[in-house]
Amino acid sequence: MVPLKRVEKEMKECVKCGVCRAHCPVFTELGREPAVARGKVALARAILSGRIKPDARTYADMSKCLLCGNCVQKCPNDVPTDEIVVAARETLAQLRGLTSFHKALRQILKNRIIMRIGAFIAAIVSPLVMRKVPGSSGLRLRFPLPFISGGRFIPKIASKPFMSRHPVIIPGEAEKPRILFFAGCMINFIYPEVGDAAVALLGGVGCTVIIPEEQQCCGLPAMSGGDVATFRELAEKNLAALEKYQADYIVTACASCGGALHGYYPAVIGKAYPELAGRCRAVAAKAVDAVSLLKILGFKPGKGVADAGIRMTYHDPCHLRRRNSTKEPRELLRGVPGGVFVEMEGADACCGLGGTFNLYHYGTSMAINARKSAAILKSGAEIVLTGCPGCMLQLNDGLQQKGIKTRVAHILELLARTVR
Ligand code: SF4
Ligand code: SF4
Repeated sequence: MVPLKRVEKEMKECVKCGVCRAHCPVFTELGREPAVARGKVALARAILSGRIKPDARTYADMSKCLLCGNCVQKCPNDVPTDEIVVAARETLAQLRGLTSFHKALRQILKNRIIMRIGAFIAAIVSPLVMRKVPGSSGLRLRFPLPFISGGRFIPKIASKPFMSRHPVIIPGEAEKPRILFFAGCMINFIYPEVGDAAVALLGGVGCTVIIPEEQQCCGLPAMSGGDVATFRELAEKNLAALEKYQADYIVTACASCGGALHGYYPAVIGKAYPELAGRCRAVAAKAVDAVSLLKILGFKPGKGVADAGIRMTYHDPCHLRRRNSTKEPRELLRGVPGGVFVEMEGADACCGLGGTFNLYHYGTSMAINARKSAAILKSGAEIVLTGCPGCMLQLNDGLQQKGIKTRVAHILELLARTVR
């Protein structure tokens, strides 16, 4: 079946009202109808009916979407444009083939050993192709590499991945929840300290923390390029890894991984492969963000933050905004003794990363990000916190390129410091 067939009914629900034009970061930047949800839906319908050719221009137009979901949340008819874009990209990939980037990515994502070896080599060679950014833990590319433009801020690859730092089962108190921690690639290979903080905080409130060894990439990078077959393959492995244990919650500290488990597994894989729908729904029902779970379990920040009076602001990752996980981080940050929480303008606006969007459309991605950097600067915050390693990377790139000194951290890192 042509993938777009599975969202045919949803596409017909677009009444062309244009409300989405006011809420699409890509349209704000490019000002062209194919960039906005209404244009994307029209394009997808034309692809399905065969009215337009799946040529390079169609491909490029359909690639200009962050899958941020802002249009979905604001659409009066609940048109799931992100799902339509994914189905359109999958259809185009079937008609024209995957891009060379996504062909290479498929091989890496599907093979955990290649990924581990790649991360190990990257950790060794990175000083050759990158230089240290003073005052940060990141690096800047000395010259362009395939798919990556020069001058970018890139975080260091961890010398020891998160999954190698902890046992599979960290026992907690018998009457407290048993949780499965889904780390995701960015926490595993780039920001293991975020995973360490999650484990410490969840263990600190008595949870038994299980880190299933067989877990893979959530598959979102493959899905965003229309490679839904690889997305399914990875999802199936993750379903099996998570189903192996009895647990009350499946916890993520990466908003994007959480968005995959909670949203795209049932919405994309469940529809494309109905035989997996029940298992996807079961995982989605238990999926929760670590910060939300800490709030549910009554966690309160301690008094351990060294920098008293630290001025903090918070950036909402799109995948948490879509799950309405916006109050809990703010409530916890307002409870940090001695801290000052300030709201920035447009805190819930996309940072411009959009997964592989940032690789294909770096200029547009950074133009969207420039508004975020300006809002952070205007807030006067010394530190900007967020709940997604991908957002951390993008915020850091934008701030570093503009010479803004505001630090970027995951909210769990700060919360862990308060109780240390
Ligand atoms: S996608 Fe929704 S908001 Fe946009 S034009 Fe269609 S119905 Fe209106
Ligand atoms: S998902 Fe985001 S980038 Fe894509 S059309 Fe909707 S608002 Fe625009």
